Amino acid sequence: MCIFCDIVEKKIPSKVVYEDDQVLAMLDINPLSKGHTVILPKKHVDSLLESDEETVLACAKVAHLLSKHICEKLNADGCNLLVNSHESAGQSVNHMHFHVIPRYKNDAVIVLNEPAPSIDLDEVLETIKY
Ligand code: AMP
Ligand code: ZN
Repeated sequence: MCIFCDIVEKKIPSKVVYEDDQVLAMLDINPLSKGHTVILPKKHVDSLLESDEETVLACAKVAHLLSKHICEKLNADGCNLLVNSHESAGQSVNHMHFHVIPRYKNDAVIVLNEPAPSIDLDEVLETIKY
């Protein structure tokens, strides 16, 4: 019942950019920019917030490798690495994935919004300081 698990099992075709024992990377079917790639673990985990560390690190390693590789091959000027976790953050496929979004000078890609108003930084820091 998970489209990315079906892709890992090759029940659904995809444009595979990279594959190893733990990770698959494919071109995003609705790219935000040329070379937009999605990196996912072969094992199903719902999102970053549910994932074990090993699975996140396996994806992060490939995200680092492919960020550099894709930018170099496509002459991108930079890239965004993005992980949406849960619906409130824009996650539409509930199988953890990292987006690598190559960026080109003057492209019109919108990734992040304006800053939120009226957030007390000291209060937040007191709550989340680790
Ligand atoms: P998110 O909104 O962060 O959950 O991202 C899900 C991404 O998966 C979107 O950018 C979709 O375009 C992409 N996507 C969904 N189905 C497929 C598919 N079959 N092959 C490749 N990418 C897909
Ligand atoms: Zn899955």
